[in-house]
Amino acid sequence: MSDLKIYLDKDINQDLIKTKKIAVIGFGSQGYGQSMNLKDSGCNVVLGLRQGGVSDKKAKNYGFKTMSIEDAVKWADVVQVLIPDEVQSDVYEKQIKPNMHSGQYLMFAHGFNIHFKKIVPAEDINVIMVAPKGPGHTVRSQYSEGKGVPSLIAVYQNPNGDGKEIALSYASAIGAGRAGIIETTFAEETETDLFGEQAVICGGVSALMKAGFEVLTEAGYSPYMAYFEVLHEMKLIIDLVNQGGLADMRYSISNTAEYGDMTRGPKVIGEASKNAMKEILKDIRSGEFADEFTNEMQSGHKYFDKLREENRNHPIEKIGEEIRSSFVWGRRENIINREKN
Ligand code: NAD
Ligand code: MG
Ligand code: MG
Repeated sequence: MSDLKIYLDKDINQDLIKTKKIAVIGFGSQGYGQSMNLKDSGCNVVLGLRQGGVSDKKAKNYGFKTMSIEDAVKWADVVQVLIPDEVQSDVYEKQIKPNMHSGQYLMFAHGFNIHFKKIVPAEDINVIMVAPKGPGHTVRSQYSEGKGVPSLIAVYQNPNGDGKEIALSYASAIGAGRAGIIETTFAEETETDLFGEQAVICGGVSALMKAGFEVLTEAGYSPYMAYFEVLHEMKLIIDLVNQGGLADMRYSISNTAEYGDMTRGPKVIGEASKNAMKEILKDIRSGEFADEFTNEMQSGHKYFDKLREENRNHPIEKIGEEIRSSFVWGRRENIINREKN
């Protein structure tokens, strides 16, 4: 690992991005987090949004200048595309591409559409990535605390020759240089990001918590107890892992928990789960997942909506809402406020 290069603010020309006109397309999770941080870092940023829409109102409430997507693209030197992956190719073809000019920087926070060739920019366009490794609302909350979310950068097409410097400077302006920035490729970022969210951090973890909750409640235990044991405590444990690895977590838990962890954990996630993960990775690399997801979203997302509804109605969610509204930690100011950001 000795060849791991981590860029920090001190390694970066932080002023470079301040000389560019930045259009951020979209004011959702990443659009909100990144544009707020860019503004506070002294960058010239405009939001490209559907005029009069919900995001337009939210962005104006924070004092942003907004334009139509078409006008923002025409105006900008740097265009950061922060709308959902499944709409990007359509918006790119109809609203972005016809308004681009030679030498512009087209940026993404995830390599999906470029890597799977759903978007193919002209050769005279610089194509780069700044991908924060955390949710957009956290990109904002960390920045506000003087910290940052570690981020990846990548360069796909570099006709101007300074794509990496622009990406680093942008990453620094959203706070990533306070935490650490790593260079990767569009292919590696896309495939590992999809794998992580499917097999481990989102898919794996939520399936693990739901299964644990079901086993306890089906065996007759209180759903409240089950919620605390398999969901609430997850964050407390993961905070320790995030800070000092599995070793810090095991240092803090009881010997009873540690012995149970090391002898029973592998029975839950063993060879069968690893094989399932390999299948997941295969579908990602072949583009099978990308096509399935794109088709599902473009054909009316009925299956996606059905899954969302089923998951929303799972008992662990209902119990969770009740518990969180009755305890103090549920009453502090939340990082996510759906009315505002
Ligand atoms: P999001 O779903 O929060 O984006 C919503 C925004 O897109 C809103 O402003 C909405 O009005 C706009 N939008 C939706 N459909 C549109 C359309 N057809 N035309 C114009 N605008 C439209 O998006 P997000 O989760 O912030 O993801 C943006 C990008 O960042 C994606 O490439 C994603 O993979 C990447 N990313 C996201 C996260 C995250 O924390 N959510 C983390 C890392 C990378
Ligand atoms: Mg992702
Ligand atoms: Mg316990």
